[in-house]
Amino acid sequence: MRLQTSAVATLTLFLGFACAAEHESASAATQASSAPFQLDFQPVDAETAQELEPVLREAVRTVETWFGAPFPVPFTITLQPDRAAFDASFPPEWGVAHTECWMVASGVATGVQLLSPRVWKAQACEHDPADARHVAQLLTHELVHVYHGQHNPSPDFVDTNGIDWFAEGLATLASGQLASEHAGHAREALASGLGPTSLATAWTGRYRYGVSGSLVAFVEHERGRAVVIQMLGASSGEELLELAGMSEAELLERWRAAVRTE
Ligand SMILES: [Zn+2]
Repeated sequence: MRLQTSAVATLTLFLGFACAAEHESASAATQASSAPFQLDFQPVDAETAQELEPVLREAVRTVETWFGAPFPVPFTITLQPDRAAFDASFPPEWGVAHTECWMVASGVATGVQLLSPRVWKAQACEHDPADARHVAQLLTHELVHVYHGQHNPSPDFVDTNGIDWFAEGLATLASGQLASEHAGHAREALASGLGPTSLATAWTGRYRYGVSGSLVAFVEHERGRAVVIQMLGASSGEELLELAGMSEAELLERWRAAVRTE
């Protein structure tokens, strides 16, 4: 999730400073070109960071393979030791005072804020830290947001409008979540009358990941991955549709027909 909406920008630096004032913060810079990130964490998360590092490297490989090109800019992944620190990692202008229990990460061009999986059992819901595939795909999902931000005119997504279905759908598709934990959800949504009536509502409700992911998969099927990659640079829903070469009504209608015959 991009915190379900957006953005960190200079936040990583600010946080690093704030944490350093209170604790001695640790960091593990990765040297290999295949891992263009720095992992920041508090001493209490040293073990968790060690466990996550190879998973993150693999997630980077998955993203770069899907898009066919490396991350253009290095970024930081910050492990937040508890829910309060995670909440405090969002800049005041986002208006996010307290995150919901299911929110454990956000990703923008500069990097990822991640509530440490060490505390998910006590401080999160709907996320099992012992489920290796779930954790790997969740991290991959966030890295897709990072990659997206690094290719968008608005690196923190603040100056975008109507691209939620694409941003979340792309992350759900490219991370493998659409084929695993959200498989069949678009079909279920349509069958139960909970399908989207507009792209603006695709990223709402209990089926939002499956529906948005399926929409992007449909665009890829119809237009090819190269077009989906071009869509990374779009700032608005209109721009996305123009690149996809379909009107909103046409996209939704053809998508519904395709999902029903899957
Ligand atoms: Zn997301």
